Amino acid sequence: MAKNLKKYRADFPILKQLVNDEPLIYFDNAATVQKPQVVIDTISHYYEHDNANVHRGVHTLAERATEQFEATRQLVADFIHSKSADEILFTKGTTESLNLVAQGFAQNRLKPGDEILISIMEHHSNLVPWQQVAQKTGAKLVYVGLTDDGRLDINDARQKMTGKTKIVSLTQISNVLGSITPIKELTRMAHHIGAIVICDGAQSVPNMPIDVRDLDVDFFAFSGHKMGAATGIGVLYGKNTYLNDMQPLEFGGEMIDFVEEQRSTFKEVPWKFEAGTPNIEGVISLGATINYLKEVGMVNIHAHEQVLVADLIPMLKAIPGVVVYGPTDIEQRSGVISFNLVNLHPHDVATALDMQGIAVRAGHHCAQPLMKRMGVSSTVRISLYLYNTLEENQKFIEALIATKEFFK
Ligand code: PLP
Repeated sequence: MAKNLKKYRADFPILKQLVNDEPLIYFDNAATVQKPQVVIDTISHYYEHDNANVHRGVHTLAERATEQFEATRQLVADFIHSKSADEILFTKGTTESLNLVAQGFAQNRLKPGDEILISIMEHHSNLVPWQQVAQKTGAKLVYVGLTDDGRLDINDARQKMTGKTKIVSLTQISNVLGSITPIKELTRMAHHIGAIVICDGAQSVPNMPIDVRDLDVDFFAFSGHKMGAATGIGVLYGKNTYLNDMQPLEFGGEMIDFVEEQRSTFKEVPWKFEAGTPNIEGVISLGATINYLKEVGMVNIHAHEQVLVADLIPMLKAIPGVVVYGPTDIEQRSGVISFNLVNLHPHDVATALDMQGIAVRAGHHCAQPLMKRMGVSSTVRISLYLYNTLEENQKFIEALIATKEFFK
C-alpha cells in the first residue's frame, strides 16, 4: 500500500486543493469519503452516453442503463460474498436499509414482551428505528454495554440474549470509538437463542473485507458514499428466506407485477423493494467504486488504516490534556479516533484545525446515548481512509499542538 500511496492519492482530485491556504488534510472519512476520478468519470459517462430509465424500455439506451444497473447488483453480491444478486436491495443508504428491516420485517414479527437487543454505541440510524418498532409493537429495547476501553461487552451481550430476544442489531464498527465488534461470534450466540441478526456495516464495508456468509448475519446494511460512490445510494443484504418474508414500505411503479383496479401483485425479491425510478447514477457509481476498491484491495486498506492509527494514537496521547477514547489494542479498532482536549470545546478545536486546512468532525456523531455513557456531550473525531498518509498525521499533530497553544 505504502509504495502505491502517491498513485492512489492522485486518483482523488479533491485532495489537490488548498483549504485556508494549506494543503487539504481530509480526516472526516467516517462522515463521507472522497470520490476517485474513475467514479466521477463513470457518472459523467453514464449521463453523456447511456442515460435512460431502467427495466422499462426496449431501446438501446434503456438496455445499456439496465445492464449496468443489474451488473452492479452482481458486483455488490460478489464484493460482500452473498450467495446471489437477488439478496441485494438498492436503498438510499444505511439509514433506509435499517428502517426497511425494522418496519418491513421486524415489526410484523414482534409482540409485547419480546426484546430487541442493540448496543449503547449504535449510530442513531440503528437505534431510532428500533425505538419506533418497540413503541409500535410493545417490544422492549435492551442495550448491550461497553467495556471500559469502549468495546462491546461480550459478557453483557451473553447475559442479555435470552429466550425473549427476537432481534439483535449491532454495528460492526463504531463510528465514534472505532471499535470493531466480533459480529461472527455474536451472530452465533444470537442464532443459538433463535434471534435474527442485523448488522450495520456503514463503517466496516469501506474499510475491511466483508463476507456476509461467513459472518452468517441475516441482514447487512451499508452506504455507498462512505466507500467512494455517490450520495443517496446504499445496500440492504438479506438472506433469501427473510427477504421473502419482508413487506415493502413503498408501493408504485417498478415494484409491481400486475395491477388491477382493486388489487396488485408485486415483483419478486429484490425488485419489489425498489419502487419508483431508482438512483441509477448512484448504483452505477457504486459499481465503479467497488471495482476501484477491489484494485486497491480491502485487506490493504484495512492494514494501511491500522498503520496510520498505530502511528497517531501514541502521538495524540503524548500531548498533555488529550483524552483518547476507544480500544487500546490497535487490532480491535478501525481508522476512527475520538478524542477531547481538556477545557476546550470540540467545535473550537475543529474550527481551529480547519483554519489550518484539516477537516475533522466535532459533535455527538449521531450517537447521543453513547456520549451520555462516555460522560461527554461531544468529541473531536478523526477518521482515516486509504489516501491518508503518515505525513498528514505529523502535520495534524503539529496543528493540534498549535491549537492548544492558541487557546492557552
Ligand atoms: N451507521 C453508522 C455506524 C454510521 O456511521 C452511519 C453514518 O455515519 C450510518 C449508520 C448512517 O449512514 P447514512 O447516513 O449513509 O444512511
